[in-house]
Amino acid sequence: MSVPIDLHCHSTMSDGLLSPEELVAHAASKGVRVLALTDHDEVGGLARARAAAEQQGICFIDGVEISVTWRKRTLHVVGLRVNPRHAGLLAAFATVRQGRDARARQIADGLAKAGIADAYEGAREFSGNSVMTRSHFAQFMVKRGHAKNVKSVFKKYMVKGKPGYVNHEWMSLEEAMQLIRDSGGVAVLAHPGRYDLGFVNMHLLLNEFRDLGGAAIEVVTGSHQPPQYEQFAKLAHRFDLKASQGSDYHGPGMSYMDMGRLPALPAGCVPVWQDWPEASQLQAS
Ligand code: AMP
Ligand code: MN
Ligand code: MN
Ligand code: MN
Repeated sequence: MSVPIDLHCHSTMSDGLLSPEELVAHAASKGVRVLALTDHDEVGGLARARAAAEQQGICFIDGVEISVTWRKRTLHVVGLRVNPRHAGLLAAFATVRQGRDARARQIADGLAKAGIADAYEGAREFSGNSVMTRSHFAQFMVKRGHAKNVKSVFKKYMVKGKPGYVNHEWMSLEEAMQLIRDSGGVAVLAHPGRYDLGFVNMHLLLNEFRDLGGAAIEVVTGSHQPPQYEQFAKLAHRFDLKASQGSDYHGPGMSYMDMGRLPALPAGCVPVWQDWPEASQLQAS
């Protein structure tokens, strides 16, 4: 039995392929009943998505996925039920956007040295006015024929040690947690299984995350392999954290998992939505 709730996905406001309206229509067509949009460092799509969700009869949660630097590593923290008009949040994301633009120029410089010209302009064609991400560079490079798909562009060009990789300093974990709290949201550690932390660092991170007021970790996500569901359910329990679930959907052909296909959280997990009024319709059905 799966629960039709998806608390992590992306629109064209960051690196997703579907507009907020298209994404909500897709979610509806896949039977999703509670949906959070969580664009990277961006809340500009939330009002549009909420309006579309109201029309589709979907319960909408305002969300965001914040890029964080923790001990020289990049982590993602999802904020759920944030206020998309919170001044502090908007100011912080304006700064991140400038940093992303400067980073995009450095990425393009790196690619130029590897013989790939005009990558900034090429990536801009895919990002439009939205935040620039490595995914936009990857799409440009697939179009140019440098690799057969986005996955292999990342492997060949966009990860540590490759010409299109730039070591970028994101906001601190403390700052992200504070922003989420100040804007009325709860913090969820996104796809912990993706960070390749050993046992010691994972335990350090979960301790620190909980001490900073973190509410939950993603247990069932399109970014985890099925054996990791149990592993992170146990860690959530051990660190007294709730559990979240989301597809991390980015659009057709861009995702490991489509919407509406999430298996239920493992037994014993306390869902992050346990006390939310938005989720009461799920218990009623
Ligand atoms: P950025 O925030 O600009 O570093 O971009 C990160 C985004 O790139 C992630 O949210 C994913 O959507 C995408 N991404 C990261 N690693 C990979 C990968 N190995 N293959 C495909 N997409 C990836
Ligand atoms: Mn992404
Ligand atoms: Mn992520
Ligand atoms: Mn994501």
